[in-house]
Amino acid sequence: MNHSPNTKAGSHSKPVRELLATYKGQPTMDGDGVKLTRIIGTHQLNMLDPFLLLDAFSSDEPLDYIGGFPSHPHRGFETVTYLLEGQMRHKDSAGNEGVIQPGGVQWMTAGKGIVHSEMPEQIDGMLMGFQLWVNLPQRAKMSEPDYQEFPTDQVATERWPSGTHIRVIAGQTNQGTTGPVKNHYVHPTYMDVSLKAGDMLEQELPATDNTFIYLIEGRVSSGESSSDKPKNIIDPQTLAVFDQGEALRIDAHTDSRFLLISGQPLNEPVARGGPFVMNTKAEVLQAFDDFQRNRF
Ligand code: FE
Repeated sequence: MNHSPNTKAGSHSKPVRELLATYKGQPTMDGDGVKLTRIIGTHQLNMLDPFLLLDAFSSDEPLDYIGGFPSHPHRGFETVTYLLEGQMRHKDSAGNEGVIQPGGVQWMTAGKGIVHSEMPEQIDGMLMGFQLWVNLPQRAKMSEPDYQEFPTDQVATERWPSGTHIRVIAGQTNQGTTGPVKNHYVHPTYMDVSLKAGDMLEQELPATDNTFIYLIEGRVSSGESSSDKPKNIIDPQTLAVFDQGEALRIDAHTDSRFLLISGQPLNEPVARGGPFVMNTKAEVLQAFDDFQRNRF
C-alpha cells in the first residue's frame, strides 16, 4: 500500500494518520444512577484495543451524579479517572483513599482484583470528567493491584507562546514533555490538549497504535490539507478514530480542547462480564466466584 498521498512533500516525511470514523457515544447510566455518555464500550464501538471503555460525565445537576459509584469490584484491566471539574473521593480494598481534584488523575491497575468506590465529594455544582478502561495483557491480568494518583500540579504541562497548552498524563509530546504515569504493561499516550485557533498539533505515535481524540469543545480538523482532499472536520463531543500512521495532525479552527489517547493493541481474546475483563468466559465466571467468596 502506497502511503505517499498522506505525505506532505518537504515538510513531513512521516505518513499522517487518516480519520477513519467518528462516534457520538450514547447516553446511559451507571453506578447508582450516574448519568453519563458512553463513548467506547457501546454497540457502535465495542472497544478500541487496548481501550475497553470511555465514559464522559458532565453535569451541574446533583441528581445526575450524587449517587456516585458505591463499592464495586474490578479485575483484569486498569481504570483511569481524569477530572476536569468537581471532586471525587475514591477508596479501595488495598487501603488507598484520596480525593481527585480538577485536573487530577487517578490511574488504577485492578490486576487480580480490587474493590473500590468512587463518590462525588460535593453536593452541588459542576462535576465533569472521564473514565477510561485500559485492558491488561493476559500475563498481567492477575498481577498485584497498583495505584497512581497525580494532582493537577504534577501533570506535566507544555505551554506554547500562542497560548496552546498540552497536559500530558502519560506518554510524551514531540517536544519531549513527559507525563507522570508509569505504565508497566501497556504504554498508552494520554494528553489533554487545549489548542488555540489556527494552531496545529503534530504528534508522533507508534505507527501501529490505535489512536483517537475526543473533542471536548471547539472545532478541529485532521490530516493533511490539500485542494484535492478536503480536511476532515470534527465536531464537539465527538470521538474521532484514526488509521495507523506515525503522526497525528490536528488543526484547530477555533479554540479547542480534546483528549488524545493512543495505545498498542493487545490482539488477545476479550471476555467481558460487567466489572471483570478477562481472556475467557471461564475466567470471568471465576472472577464472579472469587468476588462472591471474598477472595478479592
Ligand atoms: Fe470502578
